[in-house]
Amino acid sequence: MNLYEETKFIMKQNNISANKSLGQNFLIDENVVEEIINSSSITKEDLVIEIGPGLGTLTSQLIEKAGKVICVELDPKMVNIIKERFKLYENIEIINEDVLKIDLNKLIKDNKNNIIKSVKVVANLPYYITTPIIMKLLEERLDIESITVMIQKEVAQRLASMPGEKETGSITYTVWYYTEPKIVLEVPKDSFIPKPEVTSSVIKFDILKKPRIEPKDEKMFFKIIKVAFMQKRKTLVNALTNGRIFETREDAENALKELGIDLKIRGEKLTIEEYKNISDYISK
Ligand code: SAM
Repeated sequence: MNLYEETKFIMKQNNISANKSLGQNFLIDENVVEEIINSSSITKEDLVIEIGPGLGTLTSQLIEKAGKVICVELDPKMVNIIKERFKLYENIEIINEDVLKIDLNKLIKDNKNNIIKSVKVVANLPYYITTPIIMKLLEERLDIESITVMIQKEVAQRLASMPGEKETGSITYTVWYYTEPKIVLEVPKDSFIPKPEVTSSVIKFDILKKPRIEPKDEKMFFKIIKVAFMQKRKTLVNALTNGRIFETREDAENALKELGIDLKIRGEKLTIEEYKNISDYISK
C-alpha cells in the first residue's frame, strides 16, 4: 500500500473526513515525508514535539528515530486513531490539547533527562494558525534546538528572506532575531488530501544559542518594529511619530539623521541592526 492508499484506508476504516476548519490536509507523498525526517536530523537523544499529528503519517517515522515523541493534537478523533495505531510503542505520548494553550516550557522540563538531551519540533502545521504557532515557539524561548515545519510557501518566503528584502514582515525580524531560517523544499498541492489552496514549503529554523543581536532594551526593540509595521505604507518617520515612539516628528528625524538612516525609508526596508540602533538610541 502506498501512502495515498494507506491514508484513504485509515480514513475509511475510522469513518472520518478531513475537518477543513482544523486545517486538516494529510500528507500523502512518501518523498516529502522522507525529506522532512532527514532534514530534521533526529537521533535517539531527541525529544520530538509533533504539532498536529493527524492520522500519524509523520509520527510513524518519528517514533522510529527519536528517543521520545510527544504529539499535541486538538482533534479528539485524530487522537483516538493514533492512540490505537501506536499502542505498541512505549516512546510516544499523545496530548489532546490546543498547542497555543499548552505550557511547552513545562512539557520540555518534565521530559529532559540523561537520555533525552535535546528537543526538536517537527510538524505539518495547520495553516490557519501558522504565524501564532511560530511566534509562540520563538517568543517563549523554549529550550529547543530546531523547528522543521511545513507551512504555506508565501509565509515561508517571508520568514526566510533577510530583513529588509522584499518579502519582509514584522515576524521576519523575530525569526532572524532568534534563529537561522532555511527553506528545505517546495511541496506541490497534490502531495496532500484534500488538496490545499496554496503551494507549501518545508522550512527549518535552527535556534541560535543567543539572539543574533543584543539591543539594550529588547521590549523597546520589538515595540518599534511592531509600530513600524502597523503603518507599513507610511515612511518610518511618520510611523514612529504616529506610534508615539518619538514625541515629535523633529525628534524622529533627528534620531534617524544621527543614525545615518534615510528619512524617506519605509519600515520594511530596515535591517535588523538598524532597528537595534533606533532602539538603543531611545534607551541610551
Ligand atoms: N501531521 C498530519 C499530516 O502531515 O498528514 C496532519 C497535518 S494537518 C495539516 C494539521 C493537523 O493539526 C490536523 O491534524 C489538525 O487537527 C491539527 N490541529 C489543528 N489545530 C490545532 C491546534 N490548535 N493544536 C493542535 N493541533 C491542531
